[in-house]
Amino acid sequence: MKKIGVLTSGGDAPGMNAAVRAVVRKALYHGIEVAGIYHGYQGLIEGNIEDLGAGDVGDIIQRGGTALYSARCPEFKTDAGQQKAIEQLKKRGIEGLVVIGGDGSYRGALALTEKGFPCIGVPGTIDNDIPGTDYTIGFDTALNTVIECIDKIRDTATSHERSFIIEVMGRDAGDLALWAGLAGGAETIIIPEVPNDIDGLVKRLEQGHERGKKHSIIIVAEGVMSAGELAKLLLEKADIETRVSVLGHIQRGGSPTARDRVLASQLGAKAVEVLMENRGGVAIGIRNHMVVDYDLKDVFNKEHKADLSMYTLSKELSI
Ligand code: ADP
Repeated sequence: MKKIGVLTSGGDAPGMNAAVRAVVRKALYHGIEVAGIYHGYQGLIEGNIEDLGAGDVGDIIQRGGTALYSARCPEFKTDAGQQKAIEQLKKRGIEGLVVIGGDGSYRGALALTEKGFPCIGVPGTIDNDIPGTDYTIGFDTALNTVIECIDKIRDTATSHERSFIIEVMGRDAGDLALWAGLAGGAETIIIPEVPNDIDGLVKRLEQGHERGKKHSIIIVAEGVMSAGELAKLLLEKADIETRVSVLGHIQRGGSPTARDRVLASQLGAKAVEVLMENRGGVAIGIRNHMVVDYDLKDVFNKEHKADLSMYTLSKELSI
């Protein structure tokens, strides 16, 4: 392989820049040229592509977001859009593509691979919802952002003896809520992986109050319901008054943690190694602290599973 491309796509995540840097520098180190594709698949179709040198990815390892920009591109879901993309790649002598993004972006990578253009998926999403990898790039940073917010909200919750509902991101996955709930000492965590039990929650809150708990932190994953909806339910059902905080997009931003930078560097470099072996249709991940590669199709055949032992533990520790 003489030249490869790299793009970031879908929801941005802290650490994407560190992954781009790793792809570019690892390839250059091995004498392979790299083209950076701007604005994800949209930029690919439009030919928004520039060659990158080692210096072009300097000073981005510590930056959140993505210097290559990201976009959502409905046209790329069509056959014609994918053909245009392949023409753009071939025109520039690009022989393999590294796609850094979430599962939607992976579907695009699989589509191109099935049309004969080798693609590698690197997991970049704060949701930690990609099957086959224990962690995705951006999850750790987002988690730490959420923890910082919980700590701050806890200060005011304690001072005013109030209960707070904090809504966190994660789409259909509960990982961010689960980890944040355990690390933030939340009284209750509500995630899509566990059947919703409002009556049980009411009981827990009332029992806690009887035991002398003056405030409580409830973490709700956006995939279950909004914090506002939950607050309304608690008020209507049991006259329990809460304050609501929706953390929103601050969870996506910020300088990546050391852990995310290391993960991004490892996974980005591995993607290049796989392309150097002339393999495509491969996903990169980390399992039991080992960098792994696996069939991109497995991402869609398997399910990501949250570690529910953490859910049980959180319940035990929040008595
Ligand atoms: P994420 O990668 O974070 O899951 P999206 O689901 O928005 O984000 O996907 C990002 C982009 O990937 C989409 O805008 C589209 O261009 C491409 N994509 C998503 N699904 C498919 C699909 N089924 N086939 C081809 N491309 C897809």
